[in-house]
Amino acid sequence: MSSDTSHPILSPTVMDRALGAFFGVAIGDALGATVEFMTAREIAGQYKVHNQIVGGGWLGIKAGRVTDDTEMALALGAALIESGGWDLCTIGNHFVKWMRSLPIDIGNTCRRGIRRFLLDGTVAAPPCDADGGNGAAMRNVATVLATLQSDEILIQRTVEQAHLTHNHPQSDAGTVALARMTRELILHGEEAHCNQIAADLVKAHPAFRFKPWPGNSSGYIVDTVQTVFDGFFNTGSFEECVVRVVNRGGDADTTGAIAGQLAGALYGFMSIPNRWLKKIDPKVTAAIHSQVPQLLALSDQAF
Ligand code: MN
Ligand code: MN
Repeated sequence: MSSDTSHPILSPTVMDRALGAFFGVAIGDALGATVEFMTAREIAGQYKVHNQIVGGGWLGIKAGRVTDDTEMALALGAALIESGGWDLCTIGNHFVKWMRSLPIDIGNTCRRGIRRFLLDGTVAAPPCDADGGNGAAMRNVATVLATLQSDEILIQRTVEQAHLTHNHPQSDAGTVALARMTRELILHGEEAHCNQIAADLVKAHPAFRFKPWPGNSSGYIVDTVQTVFDGFFNTGSFEECVVRVVNRGGDADTTGAIAGQLAGALYGFMSIPNRWLKKIDPKVTAAIHSQVPQLLALSDQAF
């Protein structure tokens, strides 16, 4: 691959899809936070279809504010840029810094894992049956952008960053599948590869079967992945995908963030509705615009 003179990251299309993936996280988070922990029926009763970034929700956020999903993704991205590659201690330090900033929300498994790193410096949580939440998957987009050079390295790094807080076989499998799909979409823009990755996940871990959608949208990684796949594979645009997923309720900011990541990677930044983009907290918008090219440059160095 090093003899390849046309580095994929230099293509404007790859940049557009990479920006789409990271902004997709922020938009799914900001849109979904309004209806997090509501049921689909409650959402329909209140909004008919929830498709505007209006804030509120159980956290009572301002319109366009993002939550832990995007904040942890940005913390991971900042760590990769600071270390100029891959260093788990730097990632852990950025998670600590984020936790000390008194975030508006933090998952239990994330909190426990960050505390453990802070106390004993270990970069891997012990295996735990209760750690099958979606917290490792929701923050992984920066790993993908910095690891476009190799599917194998992406898998290894995804599991490593996941294990800082979540050491659970279904979390690993789901997080890796989402990461590989995002990478394929950014490099090639073809949904066909994603079908294969999803089919392989279901073959290895039948609990992830998502056709027909089993009906749960909780923070359990299996429910989250099923809800995201149902949205991603059954819609034809960024907006349609994210709206379908967040209107399922449950862990809607996180399912929305992950669906936004996949849909943004497939349809690209240019496909994201402007009415959503302009609502996003300007500091978050600036951070994503700053991080994306720097993360892609890390991939490019490694080709
Ligand atoms: Mn959140
Ligand atoms: Mn959530």
